[in-house]
Amino acid sequence: MQYATVGFPRIGLNRELKWATEKYFRNELDAKSLTEQAADLRAAQWKVQQDAGNAFIPSNDYSLYDSVLDAAFMLNAIPERYRALNIDDTSTYFAMARGHQDSHGDVRAFAMKKWFNTNYHYIVPELDDTAELKLKSEAFLDGFKQAAKLGIKTKPVVIGPFTFLKLATYTGKKTAKDFEGDIIQAYIDVLKACNANGVEWLQMDEPYLVMDLTKEDIQHFTRLYSQILAAKGTTKVLLQTYFGDVRDCYQDICALPFDGIGLDFVEGKQTAALIAQYGFPADKTLFAGLINGKNIWRSNYAKVLKILKSLKVINPSVVLSTSCSLLHVPYTVKNEPRLGEDVSRHFAFAYEKLDEMREICRLSDLPDYTKDPAFTANQALHQSSLRSDADVRARTDALTEDDFHRQMPRKERQNLQHKRLGLPLLPTTTIGSFPQTAAVKGNRAKFRRGEISESEYRANAKAFIKDCIALQEKIGLDVLVHGEFERNDMVEFFGENLAGYVFTDNAWVQSYGTRGLKPPIIFGDIKREKSITTDYIAYANSLTDKDVKGMLTGPVTILNWSFPREDITIEEMMNQIALAIRDEVMELEKAGVRIIQIDEAALREKLPLRRADWHKDYLDAAIKAFRLCAAKVQPETQIHTHMCYSEFEDIIPEIDAMDADVITFEASRSKLAILDALKANHFETETGPGVYDIHSPRIPDTAEIEDAIREMLKRIPKEHLWVNPDCGLKTRGEKETVASLEHLVTAAKHIRAELA
Ligand code: GLN
Ligand code: ZN
Repeated sequence: MQYATVGFPRIGLNRELKWATEKYFRNELDAKSLTEQAADLRAAQWKVQQDAGNAFIPSNDYSLYDSVLDAAFMLNAIPERYRALNIDDTSTYFAMARGHQDSHGDVRAFAMKKWFNTNYHYIVPELDDTAELKLKSEAFLDGFKQAAKLGIKTKPVVIGPFTFLKLATYTGKKTAKDFEGDIIQAYIDVLKACNANGVEWLQMDEPYLVMDLTKEDIQHFTRLYSQILAAKGTTKVLLQTYFGDVRDCYQDICALPFDGIGLDFVEGKQTAALIAQYGFPADKTLFAGLINGKNIWRSNYAKVLKILKSLKVINPSVVLSTSCSLLHVPYTVKNEPRLGEDVSRHFAFAYEKLDEMREICRLSDLPDYTKDPAFTANQALHQSSLRSDADVRARTDALTEDDFHRQMPRKERQNLQHKRLGLPLLPTTTIGSFPQTAAVKGNRAKFRRGEISESEYRANAKAFIKDCIALQEKIGLDVLVHGEFERNDMVEFFGENLAGYVFTDNAWVQSYGTRGLKPPIIFGDIKREKSITTDYIAYANSLTDKDVKGMLTGPVTILNWSFPREDITIEEMMNQIALAIRDEVMELEKAGVRIIQIDEAALREKLPLRRADWHKDYLDAAIKAFRLCAAKVQPETQIHTHMCYSEFEDIIPEIDAMDADVITFEASRSKLAILDALKANHFETETGPGVYDIHSPRIPDTAEIEDAIREMLKRIPKEHLWVNPDCGLKTRGEKETVASLEHLVTAAKHIRAELA
């Protein structure tokens, strides 16, 4: 048995690629040195994979910024405005990634979007009517050639034409169909180059095949590949899919002359059933994605070996593989000495996954692996359960329907709340955080480094809160916030204050370009053992006659931005976190906080890729978990939520079903389109669509905000409309924040006067 990887992390063990690329951005490194450093880094990674016995080491999975951008570049999809800059290739590439501004011209970057259901963001290719798709150069084989010189055979990886055309945006009159002929020729040339250079396997990534496909989509795919594969020659082609199963097109792809097909058995819930039902063609190699490329837990060898055994019966040429690229996991557990052996032995980051696959291959070739020490050790590990907590289990077991329902229907609650809170029409507020000044960050850093005591740290945080309350009163906002000065990150902060989490020091995962994330790991049952925010928020509340809104992160967002467990369901994890947040909610209410916001910034992010799975696999549990947080407060207590994505036109009834009293969300950039959908769906939740964009330092003027409010009033009843920015202000400077909020308050006052 041999094994393969779909792709590998690329930022470098100590984020060397990030540091080098950022130096290049600052003109401290030239393009040649950057390319050389990147070449050294990828060589090191091939070596690691070669030593670990990987038979299908990927090349060209390495990218200076993003693989989809690489594909756009390879295919000459370079819009006119970048070509007109007349700058060198590397600069053009980065201009498409990040924009470009100098004497050559001023262009903005391509858009960026989330890569399927991951937290990675890809660069969205742009095709205008002048685009001439063709194989621009053979640069996609640079890695292959470099590795060959080092005596390492690699499998070049390219994004396939179907996924490329699906993900691209079309800025002119032309559509995907108009580019079909050219893109087919470009990929025929890719294959020719592979043949000429002695490439044995070419991997063509087509993750879009796991999405809901129409008949036309499948015909389109078939047209593309029947022509491309006709030019195959001696190079074998591996069709690689990931992030789900290919239930809509399994038989169609099996009928095409691919030499190998890579299928995802981890997220692809129907993959095994499809093979059982339709078999797998005898003339192809099955790359079985059984090792989770997205999560950090050790594999269960018994489960993997059992599936491998059944697959070998159907088709003897099975290659063990990862479910997707290992881009989505950190490099190695060896980088985390602080975790301790009893924790880290449960984890397999990229390097450890290589070891696992090598070991599974060896076991699978044995006549009886059950007595092998590697197998028994792995089974023992899987029997030792994670930190489980009897109290937590008792609480989740005892949950009944009643725990998910507030005591009074929303309309009646809203009346009570209006009377009690006495807010004006169009109440003004913010989303929670205020600018994180150097002093605010310094306070946290000093505390982390042990330079100040906890009481000094807290006293400083309270001083910031005091200033923030005074500032908001001066500006004249109606509902105030404490400012979130104690938080580095809205998920990490809660994770650190809940039992059940572990944190890494160096386990970075690429988010986009040179940016990385270090997701916390849910390692056991989640429990709130101490009060988290009440001291700060009650203090803020005591400083003013106005209401201060308590600020919490919701269970769905906390889960979505962490590495989840695999031994319990997402529903159980969400409910555990929700109960912890509920304790905090109840404590805030008891402390006299009359408005509580539970942020669900990431609610939409993990929506399953297929519509049929939306409810049963995710939304039902997510909505219930949110409701669980807030169900037990008094009807008079007003529950807010906040979401960052406004692209939720398709789940408006579900958002209403969260049964919050008020929702704020990002809307200023999406041209308020969402508001029509809210109206059409008879949205009941009071609504604060952001009236200005906080992602830019630009200060909106009063008239502009008034216009936005007027537009909103066309679709939202005035009793239901709130006025606020579109997200937290923590990344903004102080000056622009004050000016923007002053304009916001003035605008709300003007419109109120108009309405009166
Ligand atoms: N309350 C958070 C803040 O204001 C919300 C952040 C977010 O939506 N990403 O920072
Ligand atoms: Zn937000």
